[in-house]
Amino acid sequence: MAKILDGKALAATLHEEQAREVTKLAAKAGRPPGLAVVLVGADPASQTYVANKRNACKKVGIYAPDYNLKSETTTGELLSLIDTLNRDPAIDGILVQLPLPAGIEKEAVLTRIAPDKDVDGFHPANLGRLVAGEPGLVACTPRGVITLLDRSGIPIAGKHAVVIGRSLIVGRPMALLLLNRDATVTICHSKTPNLPAMAREADILVAALGRPEMIGRDYIKPGATVIDVGISRGSDGKLKGDVRFEEAAAVCGAITPVPGGVGPMTIATLLDNTLDAYRHHTGLSTH
Ligand code: NDP
Repeated sequence: MAKILDGKALAATLHEEQAREVTKLAAKAGRPPGLAVVLVGADPASQTYVANKRNACKKVGIYAPDYNLKSETTTGELLSLIDTLNRDPAIDGILVQLPLPAGIEKEAVLTRIAPDKDVDGFHPANLGRLVAGEPGLVACTPRGVITLLDRSGIPIAGKHAVVIGRSLIVGRPMALLLLNRDATVTICHSKTPNLPAMAREADILVAALGRPEMIGRDYIKPGATVIDVGISRGSDGKLKGDVRFEEAAAVCGAITPVPGGVGPMTIATLLDNTLDAYRHHTGLSTH
């Protein structure tokens, strides 16, 4: 039976470490780190994600003021809030929860966030740094996967990683992070022929398709590490990953469950990114 990569337990450990770090740094800086989480509209899934992010911040001592805007908010109003937050010295990170209501220009909003406060890592300046292999703020989910691999003692350098999915939020930054860590990387997508054979080449297989339980035994090399990023709600109302867990766990070496795998790591990494931005703004480091 495969080793279960317990993202929930690791995220809890990271939150304890982050809380200690915040206490230490805030004493020197004279202020806590600040993360503004902006929610536009009342989408129930977004409300839950935002509540989880704000609660995690409060748990570790990050100042996290609420910005809940009505769904009729205009692009101009949202840009003006972002300008205010960009100037606010108490705010180190700005997160605008996606998806935004129809009618708001997403690109205009995401590129208005100052790159040094872009804790979601979606700004072209941060994407460019990632491509160049330079330090910068990186999207939370893929960075969280790297942390999970590192803290689970799974080597990356020299391994063949196959990433299924090429979105700007998950697949592409995931592939670049693995490449920057000296993996040999293959990126697959909906036009990739013979996907199972391609996936079976992987020592590290990252499934980020958003196709519930599509990945079964025939996609997995015995002993591989399987990272299931997908989260979809099945017809039975339950959360489903992209991987058929039981089937995969019978052949692979290590696997993330859904829920309790990559999801909690995404939130823990949002706080890591906020702390990185805070260290940058205050010139402080505990290392
Ligand atoms: P997108 O829909 O933006 O991207 C999906 C990618 O998968 C695309 O590149 C698409 O290819 C590819 N794809 C879709 N179907 C197939 C297929 N049958 N075969 C091969 N490739 C396929 O999704 P996201 O990247 O935003 O998210 C992916 C999943 O991860 C979703 O389930 C999402 O909910 C989840 N997620 C989980 C997070 C977490 O914290 N755990 C955070 C963010 C996302 P193409 O480009 O050709 O269309």
